[in-house]
Amino acid sequence: MKIICVGRNYANHIEELHNERPDSPVVFIKPDTTIGQKNHPFYRPHFSNDVHHEIEVVVKINRIGKHIQPKFAHKYYQEIGLGIDFTARDLQAQLKAKGLPWEKAKSFDGATVLGEWFDKSTFSDLQNISFELQKNGQTVQQGTTAHMLWPIDELIAHVSEYFTLKIGDLLFTGTPAGVGPVAENDRLEGFIDGRSALTVSVK
Ligand code: ZN
Repeated sequence: MKIICVGRNYANHIEELHNERPDSPVVFIKPDTTIGQKNHPFYRPHFSNDVHHEIEVVVKINRIGKHIQPKFAHKYYQEIGLGIDFTARDLQAQLKAKGLPWEKAKSFDGATVLGEWFDKSTFSDLQNISFELQKNGQTVQQGTTAHMLWPIDELIAHVSEYFTLKIGDLLFTGTPAGVGPVAENDRLEGFIDGRSALTVSVK
């Protein structure tokens, strides 16, 4: 399986990193080896001194597809959850400055943390799912899918123009503002529509 990630899908996060607003979704792929073991801590990698949390709504693909039209995209997923796209921000900044791919900063072992899955029927409105990340009990990131530049179904249509979607693939739909560094012994907890969906401790 593969993890398809969308960058710069929330205007307030684009502003905080002083990035340009893209004309089409910014997309990158993470391999399955980046997924941390369930209920294990996140270990900060030795090559970074500035690892950031990025909380994101994640869609689990449950049907094979290519060239999916937005109006049919809803048939390609049933479960939604939260994930953290950990990012070695210092390394990413160096790579971006040189115009190089940023995989080393985002796709290292353990850089992807997943939580519980929820059937999409349990959400009152997929276009307005609220979510947040708390660090040591304080809210650090807060968002709603209503603020996505490209909503879930449009993202699925877009990425399926380039990549065949397969059962079990994950779509990370972008992070809202509030990304920031994690430190040893931090405890992160994500909530989706008020439900606790993900917890991880940092080592
Ligand atoms: Zn991300």
